[in-house]
Amino acid sequence: MELLDGKKIADAVKAEIAAEVQAMQAQGQRPPCLAAVIVGHDGASETYVGHKERACAQVGFKSTVVRLEDNITEAQLLAELEALNANPEIDGYIVQLPLPRHIDEQKVLSAIAPHKDVDGFHPENVGRMVTGLPAYISATPDGIMELLRRYQIPTAGKHCVVLGRSNIVGRPMANLLSQKGQPGDCTVTMCHSRTPNLAEHTLQADILVVALGRAEMITADMVKPGAVVIDVGITRVACPTAKNGWKLLGDVKFDEVAPKCSYITPVPGGVGPLTIVSLLKNTLKAAKGEVYQQ
Ligand code: NDP
Repeated sequence: MELLDGKKIADAVKAEIAAEVQAMQAQGQRPPCLAAVIVGHDGASETYVGHKERACAQVGFKSTVVRLEDNITEAQLLAELEALNANPEIDGYIVQLPLPRHIDEQKVLSAIAPHKDVDGFHPENVGRMVTGLPAYISATPDGIMELLRRYQIPTAGKHCVVLGRSNIVGRPMANLLSQKGQPGDCTVTMCHSRTPNLAEHTLQADILVVALGRAEMITADMVKPGAVVIDVGITRVACPTAKNGWKLLGDVKFDEVAPKCSYITPVPGGVGPLTIVSLLKNTLKAAKGEVYQQ
């Protein structure tokens, strides 16, 4: 069994991005700039945005956070996005989810200018990805593709089972793995909460991508010997012996599944670090005008 070290790959990609930023600046260009919009005071959202700001600083990007109160109206939020769309100093921006209930998430995501949509959630970017056109690809599936690519894991002709059908992980993941090329060319099965007898499918998987949000649900008896297991899940659970009183668990029961696998991602340190790196990659592409000609 080999561990898929997301932190190591993320550090390597960050070093490549930092070198590109230095080269851009040496040519007199300003560094790429990412903005994050955060509505309200959700602790997890604050943490994620903090990680993104730190990652920007590590590679030499500028970053800025637009903080808005959770009683903001939808119209006011849309006006803030209009301003970001028009601001030439901002290459790309994200709207941190979840949003307060009175705001229509899909309307907000659709108001982001597609050429600044570095999270890849705008329907135009989703459509471009599905049709194989240049696109900003949602960060987590893109990070998983990077991991498969860098570890040179053969995917052609493999049976990949994706557990979860969310718009940000499961669905784009299934789509990307079915596309032509390496990594890709997989035969893909996508499962969700209405799939009867999940184990019947997981046991067929050469590559198993688990994005359920159900801590340690995948046990050794559900995994084919020699499978590649990608664990996307992150659940925070109480842990009295931990310094901060909690720990993170994946969707896979790591200790019993790992010995059966050819490769497996740990949680934390697997998929998570690559998710942020993919956001940086998309922001660099935005600054260089690589996806949309400006
Ligand atoms: P969602 O809650 O949006 O989707 C979960 C999916 O799992 C749904 O399709 C749901 O089915 C399916 N599901 C839930 N329970 C079961 C079950 N018992 N059997 C079969 N299918 C089930 O979550 P996300 O896709 O946003 O995230 C999934 C996990 O990944 C979470 O733990 C999240 O925190 C983590 N995550 C990690 C990231 C990282 O950087 N490492 C980034 C993004 C997410 P249905 O559609 O029928 O409801």
